[in-house]
Amino acid sequence: MALPVAEWQARTARLWAALDPALRERLAAASLRDAVRLGCDLLRSEEEEEAALVSLCRRARTDKEPQAASWYREQGNREFKRGQYQAALRLYSKAASHELPGSPEVSVCFANRSAALLHLRHFEVCLEDIARAESRGYPDRLLPKLLLRKAECLLCLGRLQEAQDVLGVLERKTALDGVMTTHLTRLKKLSQLKAEKERCPQPAGEAGGSVQGEPEIWEENSRISGASSSLRLSFDAERGRHLVASQDIVPGQSLVKEEAFVSVLCPGESVPLQDGDTAWDTRATNADLYCHRCLRQLLASVPCQGCSYAKYCSQDCADVAWQQYHGTECSLGALLLTLGIFCHVALRTVLLAGFAEVSRLVAWSHRGDKDLQNPKAGCKALSDAGAGGRGIPGCGSNGRYQSSYQALFHLLPHAEQHSPEHKFLCTLSVVAVCKQLQTAGLEAAVLNQESPQQRSIPKTCEKPSAELSPELKTVAEAMLRHVLQLQCNAQAITVMQELGPGDGAVVDKKPVRLATAFFPVLSLLNHSCCPNTSVSFSGTAATVRASQPISSGQEVLHCYGPHWCRMRVAERQQLLRQYFFECRCRACLEELEPGVKSVVSIRNSFCCPKCQAQMQGEEDTLCCSNGACATSASRDHLSGRLQDLQQRTKKALDLLGVGKADQAIKMLLKCQMDAGTFLSPEHLLMGELEDHLAQVYATLGKWQEAARHLKKSIEIVEMHHGPLSVETGHELFKLAQILFNGFAVSEALSTIQRAEGILSVHFGPQSAQIQELQEMKACLSELPRNILQRT
Ligand SMILES: [Zn+2]
Ligand SMILES: [Zn+2]
Ligand SMILES: [Zn+2]
Ligand SMILES: [Zn+2]
Repeated sequence: MALPVAEWQARTARLWAALDPALRERLAAASLRDAVRLGCDLLRSEEEEEAALVSLCRRARTDKEPQAASWYREQGNREFKRGQYQAALRLYSKAASHELPGSPEVSVCFANRSAALLHLRHFEVCLEDIARAESRGYPDRLLPKLLLRKAECLLCLGRLQEAQDVLGVLERKTALDGVMTTHLTRLKKLSQLKAEKERCPQPAGEAGGSVQGEPEIWEENSRISGASSSLRLSFDAERGRHLVASQDIVPGQSLVKEEAFVSVLCPGESVPLQDGDTAWDTRATNADLYCHRCLRQLLASVPCQGCSYAKYCSQDCADVAWQQYHGTECSLGALLLTLGIFCHVALRTVLLAGFAEVSRLVAWSHRGDKDLQNPKAGCKALSDAGAGGRGIPGCGSNGRYQSSYQALFHLLPHAEQHSPEHKFLCTLSVVAVCKQLQTAGLEAAVLNQESPQQRSIPKTCEKPSAELSPELKTVAEAMLRHVLQLQCNAQAITVMQELGPGDGAVVDKKPVRLATAFFPVLSLLNHSCCPNTSVSFSGTAATVRASQPISSGQEVLHCYGPHWCRMRVAERQQLLRQYFFECRCRACLEELEPGVKSVVSIRNSFCCPKCQAQMQGEEDTLCCSNGACATSASRDHLSGRLQDLQQRTKKALDLLGVGKADQAIKMLLKCQMDAGTFLSPEHLLMGELEDHLAQVYATLGKWQEAARHLKKSIEIVEMHHGPLSVETGHELFKLAQILFNGFAVSEALSTIQRAEGILSVHFGPQSAQIQELQEMKACLSELPRNILQRT
């Protein structure tokens, strides 16, 4: 997903292999500028490659297809009749994204969607959709129905005067049929009742015990934008730029708060459509669920005027995105999906920076090529500059490090460390994007030579054009740099997404990757497999918090992915190779000692089928560690059993998904019994089985059983990730919900307190989960005494 689709990768690999060896050598040693120049020449002479790319792009559909619109609308109507309002809502949104802007059909989509929103009790959003329908030429003959809905919505919101005004308008219309007249009468009655109730207000109820989280202490660093004053920027040859604590830091303290310089929503999983396939997908992907600009969760999306792909939380986001970048990206949608998110981020970075800044820094990089490639030069400059940050690459002339294009430009592209084949793929891909910009008549827009108002939705013409202009070559060079930088500096924006149908009893969440972004300040943090911080996101903003005490002088570290609790040292080192460095963190140094095993392999080991002692051995045959037992087993055999167990577990969850909870329990209990005969008691799968059992019992409302299983799961999670880890926090959050539902008041309260303590360190006191925990606490403390005494 980060890189281009497999077919394009394979094509460029073949092309690379077929190149004249002398040219291959020249490309391998080329500067970014020369790579772009050679890439342009190559792509011009290889028309076949261009044609292949065009045909690959047909699979990613981003055009508006009115046929798809009516199909989605029919599917939406079907779900609506079945009372599946959430599904109907999504389908109407998909329909709206395919309607041509300004067509009467698009107003019908919004009107239909408003009906689903009313049922889901999202009254404010429902009113917005009604207004959208009204302003887009909703047919007159259908208007009374829409106005009735509006009145009902206003009534539910307690906006009585407005509701009565709408009802008044309706009464003056004559074309009401029988059903609607009844409806109107009912609403009028309702509005009268509400009005009377308002005239004699009831004595104010006891104030809700909503506890506000304590405000965070935050003092911004004067030299690093978005960083806390408890940090300082440091530089040395081995670690490059890095952040160090300048005073003692306590767990939970915010260290960096940064808005992404650029972010691009990941399209998310979806089945690739075959060429010529006409079936439309009814499933929702990230592109349907989150705003393309601010990443807020979408309820009633505002579609882009030009494509069916981009959707926004509001007209405001749609307008700003169009003005800043989407006006240029819109017609390139399919190409950008085909070439992968790194290319897309690279293009958007350049568009956000503006051509003047891009060409200034590209020109500067030609002059200072040597300085830029050589970290020692920057180091020397730092010592020359004395105490200030002047001389640290990316700092402004005032010595301040800011989240800016300049700082981003200075992130290391490691141009000489990428494989030549990889650089070749990236070069051809960015050149293809720039050629398409030229072909589509978007060059002036990219170079900021026209105002956004002058811009219309461009028509793509199929004819490949000649040479790239020098300006677009500069753009291509900057984009190539950014694509290469992303390999080490791409930051995934993740959110906790709810799993399953979300029927409300117990909410299970897992982190999903939402977007890929550049965070110039966050990028200052080096990696450790046992980090001392934790990163969380809200929209496109990242917050880094200390996850443990950090004393003055210690480096502040965050984990790029491979965490010592989740992976063996060999796997971690393999993964970290993409960042071109060898990790020397505490965990790696310890585990690389001869004879030391990774924590992960010790805990996730097999046990002897006869005596339950741990099985040992690095070879194909494992032996029981109990000398008196002498049982041996083949590793393949045990791994086969483990796989079989994982598949059966998955089947059990599928059964739960279709409502067969009793069968799911039977299957899970059987799995658990089998697992006990060959997996160590602290094996992660043992914990997962307990967690699944808890989930099934919770859906049946058997809270005590659910709690019993979940507590066992928590024990294992604590063992693997530590008692103060995010993972343990999430499990405790689930336990709190189960205890809450089962009215186990005192235990619920203590669990809430523990979960709150852990989660607020990682996500801050204002996070959604903390708010939820506090609501539960307030609710429990308001329970009548007789219930409290029974528990
Ligand atoms: Zn938005
Ligand atoms: Zn668009
Ligand atoms: Zn490490
Ligand atoms: Zn044994």
